[in-house]
Amino acid sequence: MPRHSVSRSATSQGAAGELKASRRQVIGIAVGAVAFAGLRNTGAVRAQGTHCASPWPDPPKIDGDILLCDADRQAFAADYGGYVKRLPLAVVRPRSIDDVARMVGFANRRGIKIAMRGRGHSQYGQSLVERGIVIDSSSLSTVRVIEPDTVDTQAGATWGDVAKATLAQGRIPPVMVDALMLSVGGTLSVGGTGETGYRYGGQVDNVLELDVVTGIGEVVTCSPERNGELFRMTLAGLGQCGIIVRARLRLVKAAQFVAIRTLMYDDIDAFLTDQARLTSAETHGPLNGAAIKEQDGRIRFELYAGSYIDTVEQGNSQPAWMSALHFKSDRPPATTPIWDYLDRRTVGATRALAAVKLGLVNSALTTTLPEPEVRNFITSVLQSPETSIGIWNFEVSPKRKSNHGQPLFKMPESELSYELRMQRRTTGPGSPDAKTMLAATQGLLPRILSSGGKIYPPYCPILTKGQWQAQYGTETWRRFAESKKAFDPNSILTPGAGIF
Ligand SMILES: Cc1cc2nc3c(=O)[nH]c(=O)nc-3n(C[C@H](O)[C@H](O)[C@H](O)COP(=O)(O)OP(=O)(O)OC[C@H]3O[C@@H](n4cnc5c(N)ncnc54)[C@H](O)[C@@H]3O)c2cc1C
Repeated sequence: MPRHSVSRSATSQGAAGELKASRRQVIGIAVGAVAFAGLRNTGAVRAQGTHCASPWPDPPKIDGDILLCDADRQAFAADYGGYVKRLPLAVVRPRSIDDVARMVGFANRRGIKIAMRGRGHSQYGQSLVERGIVIDSSSLSTVRVIEPDTVDTQAGATWGDVAKATLAQGRIPPVMVDALMLSVGGTLSVGGTGETGYRYGGQVDNVLELDVVTGIGEVVTCSPERNGELFRMTLAGLGQCGIIVRARLRLVKAAQFVAIRTLMYDDIDAFLTDQARLTSAETHGPLNGAAIKEQDGRIRFELYAGSYIDTVEQGNSQPAWMSALHFKSDRPPATTPIWDYLDRRTVGATRALAAVKLGLVNSALTTTLPEPEVRNFITSVLQSPETSIGIWNFEVSPKRKSNHGQPLFKMPESELSYELRMQRRTTGPGSPDAKTMLAATQGLLPRILSSGGKIYPPYCPILTKGQWQAQYGTETWRRFAESKKAFDPNSILTPGAGIF
């Protein structure tokens, strides 16, 4: 039985043209047909001034809920960026994988656009669907460690859910995102980056198997060996060829603590060279860095390198790799339990999301640039007031192409590259305005793509068709377009990505 449903008494009042809906105005399954029949006759459901009309006379019967009222739809009309607003016709809260398949099949037959939403942390409308259907994945969040080194997780589980389940077994996925509220399906659909990516690639490089709902509503199990092209075109595939409903992930042994060293540099060459050196050092800890512009205009750099350790005391002894580096000064190591390290951005991200709901805007750009381009790019962006406008965080982390194997998670051609995450935001009266910040972000795209750099789609304004082709390159673009036709022939899946 549905938890919330339109009451029978409400539907029986259809002729009056106004219906009393249940407390949350949710159309439920068991009475769905009755409720929708009532809606078709009356054309509208109104309760407390909200508009709850069903757009369709014959929606599918599902075990979960189909939410139709304004308040529910408005909650899924915006994302973490705050730039784009798109109101869906309905929000679906599935109870099963079959629910997702039924809704996609329905959308396919009707030519209605549909997308799965993780937690809406992409910033430029990627998870939004104007006058279409949004599937809220959060109701599909079961996580099960099936073998010591393998976990099965539904797409709507957060990385926090996964970490809790796997740490209980002393294991962890090799690449963890820095914000535990992101969903598994959301990051596997965009790539999934983390501070151990310099060694293990993207999260998509550590997936063993997927269950995917294709654009015609079929549930297909795929892996590198089985239905391989669907597997490869779904991972980092921006929801274009299929919706991920289950993923089987590889696990590695988890440490008890992380000891992070902060090393300081004035010289960009020394900073970048040391980061590159650490990509092959005998350390398995996190690696990241930041470019920081001081009030006086000076640019300095911080390198963050961590060691995974099993006792707090181990954090105090200097690791061997430090002696080969050329930093100017360093801070005492900060040792934290593994969970606190993984959870480090939850408070800040939650606060930032609340600010977006009050009208502020986030405008991020993440790009990965070939090594020879990086020095000039960082210094020129930070030196110019036009290009540095609103940047409050500029992260720099090295990557190695040979650790990345999924075709849609694009990396530059050079073996060594650097991921640059530039975050801008409005902070209220007196801060740079949202349009100027967006223009500054967009202005960097031609330079990035023409120099062989790649963008990270959830953290990048929607590209033009030509820019998407430059991003993927001729051969990958051809494969992606062919798969789109094969697996989503009516092009209903995930329109917000703006690719096809
Ligand atoms: C505070 C913060 C920290 C972040 N940290 C990281 C990080 O460390 N690493 C990183 O890689 N990214 C990071 N991101 C960037 C990015 O926003 C997310 O990777 C991505 O958007 C996933 O978040 P989500 O689960 O909210 O997915 P959403 O933003 O809801 O979805 C992303 C895209 O995938 C589609 N999608 C969602 N679920 C599915 C599914 N099951 N099947 C098919 N398509 C689906 C959506 O329609 C949308 O197009 C961060 C973002 C924020 C705001």
